Amino acid sequence: MLSYRHAFHAGNHADVLKHVVFIQLMRYLAQKDAPYMVIDTHAGAGVYALASKEATKNAEFESGIARLWQRKDLPDPVADYVGVVRALNPDGKLRFYPGSPYCANQVLRPEDRLRLFELHPSDGRILAENFRKLEEQEGRGGARGKRVLIQQGDGFLGLKALLPPPSRRGLVLIDPPYEVKEDYRRVKDTLEDAVKRFATGIYAVWYPMLQRMESREMPNRLKRVPANGWLDVRLTVAAPAPDAFGGLRSSGMFILNPPWTLEPMLRELMPWLVAALGQDAQASFTLESGQTVTGQAIRREP
Ligand code: SAM
Repeated sequence: MLSYRHAFHAGNHADVLKHVVFIQLMRYLAQKDAPYMVIDTHAGAGVYALASKEATKNAEFESGIARLWQRKDLPDPVADYVGVVRALNPDGKLRFYPGSPYCANQVLRPEDRLRLFELHPSDGRILAENFRKLEEQEGRGGARGKRVLIQQGDGFLGLKALLPPPSRRGLVLIDPPYEVKEDYRRVKDTLEDAVKRFATGIYAVWYPMLQRMESREMPNRLKRVPANGWLDVRLTVAAPAPDAFGGLRSSGMFILNPPWTLEPMLRELMPWLVAALGQDAQASFTLESGQTVTGQAIRREP
């Protein structure tokens, strides 16, 4: 089943959380000169026009990036993220939203590598076309072509062949649609396999907070994947919707092997993000981190 199109959701509060964290993880890896690889297992279309019929259907970007666009008091990580969005909108009007592949392309250095998987044939084509246009605009031609590889196919499976990356430094973003409950299981299985192949990689998983059992249980399951540590951050912008059509109100980013800098950064940032994106009195965040010892999740006290 391939009905999910990210164009309907681009730039919403969940994308803000995901892309702020994603960009900061890349900034962390870029602190060392040694190159690193970013693998995006569920890349989407790469760039989204916010005037499209998909994006305007529920105008989800109004709950996310649009609330930050005019603000002058952005904390550094949010300013960094909004800067990436501004690079796509040089005239200052918010018309386009960058998906994770564009965010990565903006942040990576020439020596770093980007590997993108997208299963949906239409989004795969749009993604390839977006990168072709980027190459043209930026004039990097062949160099860019070598740096970024796009594959139309299953990212859960494709990841296996890429681990460990030759540089032994890498970040994997796993961001499935979760329309089918299989996705929850595949995320966990994929992480378990990936850490065996590349134990020191940083793995970032986005997930929705929904009523369904698989969603509520997933973070606790991921905490048991053997690794050096985990961090789980959740942003809730409003009370749960009364029905299935009320839209997503809460989502999380689960990081395996998080850099030590991430938790203090998020502890400072999240109250600001709750105030900026919150829609009612139930807007809140949670932030937990811990270590995994022989299959048991040990929570670290803040
Ligand atoms: N990561 C993107 C971003 O942040 O801009 C958004 C990705 S969207 C949430 C999920 C994407 O995964 C959709 O474009 C969908 O077509 C694609 N997809 C679904 N199953 C997949 C699979 N097994 N492998 C690769 N892509 C898949």
